Amino acid sequence: MSAGAETYSEALAAAARLAAEWLKSLPDRHVGPALTAHDLVADFGGPLPAEGMPPVDVVEYLAAKAEPGLMAMPSGRFFGWVIGGTLPAALAADWLVSAWDQNSGLRYATPAIAAIEEAAGQWLLQLLRLPEESDVGFTTGATMANFTGMAAARWRLMADAGWDVDRNGLAGGPRIRCFVGQERHETIDLGLRYLGLGQPTAVPVDAQGRLIPGELNRLLAEGSGPALVCLQAGNLHSGAFDPFDDAIQVAHRHGAWVHVDGAFGLWAGAVPEFAHLTAGMALADSWGTDAHKTLNVPYDCGVAVVKDSPALRSAMGLHTSYLVHDAEGPGDPFEKVPELSRRGRGVPVWAALRSLGSDGVAAQVRGLARAASLIAERLIEVDGIEVLNPVDYTQVSLAFGDDATTRAVTARVIQDGKVWMSGSRWQGRDVLRVSVSNWSTNTDDVGTAVDAVSSAFAAVRAETG
Ligand SMILES: *Cc1c(COP(=O)(O)O)cnc(C)c1O
Repeated sequence: MSAGAETYSEALAAAARLAAEWLKSLPDRHVGPALTAHDLVADFGGPLPAEGMPPVDVVEYLAAKAEPGLMAMPSGRFFGWVIGGTLPAALAADWLVSAWDQNSGLRYATPAIAAIEEAAGQWLLQLLRLPEESDVGFTTGATMANFTGMAAARWRLMADAGWDVDRNGLAGGPRIRCFVGQERHETIDLGLRYLGLGQPTAVPVDAQGRLIPGELNRLLAEGSGPALVCLQAGNLHSGAFDPFDDAIQVAHRHGAWVHVDGAFGLWAGAVPEFAHLTAGMALADSWGTDAHKTLNVPYDCGVAVVKDSPALRSAMGLHTSYLVHDAEGPGDPFEKVPELSRRGRGVPVWAALRSLGSDGVAAQVRGLARAASLIAERLIEVDGIEVLNPVDYTQVSLAFGDDATTRAVTARVIQDGKVWMSGSRWQGRDVLRVSVSNWSTNTDDVGTAVDAVSSAFAAVRAETG
C-alpha cells in the first residue's frame, strides 16, 4: 500500500482538533498538572503490545491520557522559570516543518529551509543590533547556543595561541582561562564542561547580580594566556544586564573572547527604550539566545550568533579548519550548529518575526517588561511584600519577610493554581520569582497574578497568626 495523503489526514485532523481543545483550555485551567509522572507511567508503560494501533487512535489516546499531566506553560498565567508560550504563526509553521520533514543540514538539499533560516538570521541580527557579518545557527536552546559560541571561542583562542585543537585535542595545549559572573546561568558551566574547559572562575557581582568590571580586570590580570569571558544579558532573578561597555573593554584589553548569554535578555536589543541595558553588547564576539523564550516559538529553538565566521565553521563544520576565504558566503547550516541532521527549527522563527514585524517584536518585549513592572508596582503596595529588584526588564523577585513565609506563599500560589511562579533562592534569601515571558499575558492575567500572590500571602499570614 502506498502512503497517500489519506493515510495521514485522519490522524492530522484529530491532532488539530485536540490541539485546539488544549489551547482553548489555557485561559481557565488550573495551571499546574493534576497528576505526577509517577501516576502517569502506567498509562504509557508496560510491555509494548505486539499489535499496532491505528494512527488516529494513537493520537486520541495520547491526548486523553496526557491531559491531566500537562502544565499550562503556554498560558498567559504561567510565570515560572523563563518559559514563553507559542505565537500562532510559529506554532502553525512548526507543524509545517514536521510535515515537510526536511533534513536541514545542507543548503543544496533543502534550499527552502536554508533560505528561510538565512532570512530569519538576518532579521535577527538587525532586530537585536548585532554585527551584520555574523553567522547565525539555530540550535535546540540557549544551552547549545552558548556552547556553540564558546566552541568557536575555543577554536579561535587555541588557533591564535598556535595550537591546532582539531588535530591535537586539548591535552598538552595552552589552558584557556574562563571567567563568568557569579550569577551566570549554570548551563554556562555545562557548556564549558562539554568543551573540556573545566570550571570557570566566578567574578564577583553587585546586588543585582551584575558582573563588576573592576573585579574582572583584577582576575584577568592575575594570570596570562588565552581567556574566555562570558557575560549575561538578563539575570534570572533581577533581569539585570552586565555592564557590557566596561566589561567588554576590560576583556578585550586582555585579549579575551567575549560571549554573551542572552537567553531571554538579548531581546532587549529590539526595544529602543532599553538601549541603556544593552549598551555595548554588540561589541562582544558571540551571543547565545533562545527563540522559545521571549520570542515565543515552540520548543525547541535557540540561536547562536558568532561574528568570527571562520572560527565557528571550523569548530562546527565537518571539514578540517577553514581558511578565512572559505568562510565567505552563507555556508551550510550544519557548519553553524552542533547537529548534522536536524529539523528546520529556524522556520518558526521566521514565521514569528514575519507575523509580528519589527514593531511587533519590540511591542511584545516591551509588553512583557511592562506587565512585570505592573505586577511589582501593585504587589509592593501590599504591606509585608518586598520587591527585591528594580524591575527594568521581565523578572521580579519577591520576598515575604522570612524565608519560611516566602516558601509557604510560593507553595500556596502553586497549589491554588490560578498562576504558576517559581520558588528560588537569590543572594541568600528565598524568593518567589515572577517571569513574564508569554506574549499572551494581558492585563487580566496581571490582575490574576497580583490577586493570587496577595491572597496566598494573606492566607499564610492568617494560618501562622
Ligand atoms: C534558559 C536559560 C538558559 C538555558 O537555555 P535552554 O533553552 O534551557 O537551553 C541559559 N541562560 C539563561 C540566562 C537562561 O535563562
